[in-house]
Amino acid sequence: MVAPVSKIWMNGEMVNWDEARVHVLTHTLHYGLGVFEGIRFYRTPKGPGIFRLDDHLRRLYDSSHVCRIKVPYDWDTLYEAHLEIVRANGLADGYIRPVVYLKDGPMGLLVNEDHPVGVFIAAWAWGAYLGEDGLKNGIRAKISSFSRNHVNAIMTKAKINGAYVNSILAKREAIQAGYQETIMLDTDGYISEGSGENLFMVRNGVIKTTNLTSILSGITRDCVFTLAAEMGYKVVEDRFTRDELYIADEAFFTGTAAEITPIREVDDRAIGEGKPGPVTKAIQDAYFKAVHGEDEKHMGWVTVVK
Ligand SMILES: *Cc1c(COP(=O)(O)O)cnc(C)c1O
Repeated sequence: MVAPVSKIWMNGEMVNWDEARVHVLTHTLHYGLGVFEGIRFYRTPKGPGIFRLDDHLRRLYDSSHVCRIKVPYDWDTLYEAHLEIVRANGLADGYIRPVVYLKDGPMGLLVNEDHPVGVFIAAWAWGAYLGEDGLKNGIRAKISSFSRNHVNAIMTKAKINGAYVNSILAKREAIQAGYQETIMLDTDGYISEGSGENLFMVRNGVIKTTNLTSILSGITRDCVFTLAAEMGYKVVEDRFTRDELYIADEAFFTGTAAEITPIREVDDRAIGEGKPGPVTKAIQDAYFKAVHGEDEKHMGWVTVVK
């Protein structure tokens, strides 16, 4: 259960947590067409800092564009609303969830351009998504029996609400089998991503991650490209197979929620020595410095909320 905080931004107003309600005929609730983001803010020396807000907001508009949903608020309004939701709730660190949804209006699958669209932005305190122990010691993952959404079935560049049925089915299957996260293959059988995380492997000092065809273009993934390059690592974007992952020296998930979570085992095979490796640890360390506003080079990624 999310611990209630005090305010939610809803359609232009700050409303009390308990009053942020939608009608049962909300279109998105029936058919899943809607888009969202997941953003974190962290304690920094200068106050709460929202991490890569511009990039998340850009992706929210991009996701809407992919779905042909017209966001009824301009950039500046939503940008300011994100700052305001942090201020209004007095949280030092946490998670922000904006959602662009189709309100109650005409029912059925024909969505017209004039369908009423709503936006809300909630925030709450959220610890390590895959557990503190997972961050520190790594997690055990299992390849899913479910394939990742194909780009021509439901697109992969947008965070579309309904697309996460696929993630939920896969994640639940892995958890029930005793693992902490799932790894989905694309419809051609190559490694795609986790339920809500991108995936990296390291072998012989080279970092590799899935190319963009079957995955969400993660902002954390993008941070890894930058941080790894600064440390002198080569990063390759390519397809790879499950057995290539089995024989990797290291592997890790990336995502706003999951941050940098080491993977210590895949399908009951230890990855490397079965514990977080040096490359993973160095990237994790650099990432946590950046999000906490402790890396001068990357202060541009942090929007301090005054
Ligand atoms: C959100 C998400 C990610 C991670 O993206 P970030 O921008 O790093 O948070 C990866 N895969 C999927 C399917 C996601 O929904």
